[in-house]
Amino acid sequence: MIPGIPGIEPQKLEKWEPVIGLEVHAQLATQTKMFCGCRREYGAAPNTHVCPVCLAYPGALPVINEEAVNLAVRLGLAVGCAVRPFSRFARKNYFYPDLPKGYQISQFDEPICEGGHIDFYLDGGDFKSVRLTRIHMEEDAGKLIHGSGEESYVDFNRSGTPLVEIVSEPDMRTPQEAKAYLDRLKQTLIYTGVSEADMEKGNLRCDANISIRPRGSETLGTRTEMKNLNSFRGVERGLTYEINRQIDLLESGGAVLQASLQWDDAAGVTRVMRIKEEANDYRYFPEPDLVPLMVPAERIDEIRAALPELPSAIEKRYADEYDLKVQDIHVLTRTPQLAQFFEAVIAGGVSPQLAAQWVQGEVLRVLNEERQEIADFAMPPDRLAGLIGLVDSGTINRNTGKAVFDDMLSSGLSAREVVDRDGLAQVSDSDELRLIVRSVVHEMEVELARYKAGEKQLFGHFMGSVMAATRGKGDPRVVRGILQELLNADG
Ligand SMILES: [Zn+2]
Repeated sequence: MIPGIPGIEPQKLEKWEPVIGLEVHAQLATQTKMFCGCRREYGAAPNTHVCPVCLAYPGALPVINEEAVNLAVRLGLAVGCAVRPFSRFARKNYFYPDLPKGYQISQFDEPICEGGHIDFYLDGGDFKSVRLTRIHMEEDAGKLIHGSGEESYVDFNRSGTPLVEIVSEPDMRTPQEAKAYLDRLKQTLIYTGVSEADMEKGNLRCDANISIRPRGSETLGTRTEMKNLNSFRGVERGLTYEINRQIDLLESGGAVLQASLQWDDAAGVTRVMRIKEEANDYRYFPEPDLVPLMVPAERIDEIRAALPELPSAIEKRYADEYDLKVQDIHVLTRTPQLAQFFEAVIAGGVSPQLAAQWVQGEVLRVLNEERQEIADFAMPPDRLAGLIGLVDSGTINRNTGKAVFDDMLSSGLSAREVVDRDGLAQVSDSDELRLIVRSVVHEMEVELARYKAGEKQLFGHFMGSVMAATRGKGDPRVVRGILQELLNADG
């Protein structure tokens, strides 16, 4: 089965196979920068977190941030890498105005982590494992800010921010797989506390290598590197665009040039930045100002022992214990805080299915509307469990439950308090309901005649009228029974 790609004609994909590898930069969630004591803070006034080291004053020397090393090892262990007991920093030489030293301290042939894999399920439920080549540590550059006229400014606050670069093998075949890979990587970074992984804040940045080869071929085609894929949507759109471009080029007898491309998300096109660039253009050499980095086995063991339950394990547990669908699990485990909230609702005595419905429905609706995180959510999980219990036991119906939910958020009351205050408890007393049903049906002579003449679809109309007459408090199951009995009676 050839996987389809929205936006690419199936005939093209029968002939050509896209090959995608990703390079993701993640800023590490440290207090301070990679090689100096400056605070790492997003959104501070320009050039307020700088010092001689990150401004590259002559004679200033770098010192490795131990916390950054611990986080890089933590990530490596979470994704099954081998951690090198001995790794080395190297200089990557190039000029850019946001790089005051004229080189970036990175790692080259002796990175801190090698191998590993990222595993995930695709939307259709298929399992996919993408191999990692390596994870290495490096420092971020500063930031150029372009003025309204000809002028540009440099903000060095970001200069020296600790990064890990996570390099995958070219194991992905569709933009959708690339997106799912990124999703899982982001989730892993958040669960392990290695990075805030917020793409909007530039914590997470993605470049992609893309090539096309005739289907069935084992040889890789010439690849382009696409920069600036800085949203999940951008990754899917950019890759789709580039796959189409390369296939069209090859089919018209042209050849793909090895190049760095910039994805312009607003225009929806790629632009060529540089043609052909090789690792040796950067004149890598070992960083002479830093000693090699040794990570003792005991340290690696300590970090491994402190790893939290990882997303793939939680997903498996949810599938085995709670019997939830892949899509539901995906949503509920997006962040560890949301997963904890969901589990706390279940701990309040609610079935996993109902808890999943309410958390995905009402809770996420409010969080999206208010642009909040679950940590900011005003209703504790045990109160939500109380509300779901009242709906499940039939004390109130589902629609009333939703209204009570909104009321609880604004009033701070418990579900029971709102129900008692407004007298919302459902009427399931059949004698009382029978009187209401009779009087409603009595008023609806015309509809009754049509119903008896065979227009059975009018049943919903009767149901709605009776529910309205009970002001939504009638127990729908009881109402339905009485109504059926009455409408289908002879005469
Ligand atoms: Zn500094």
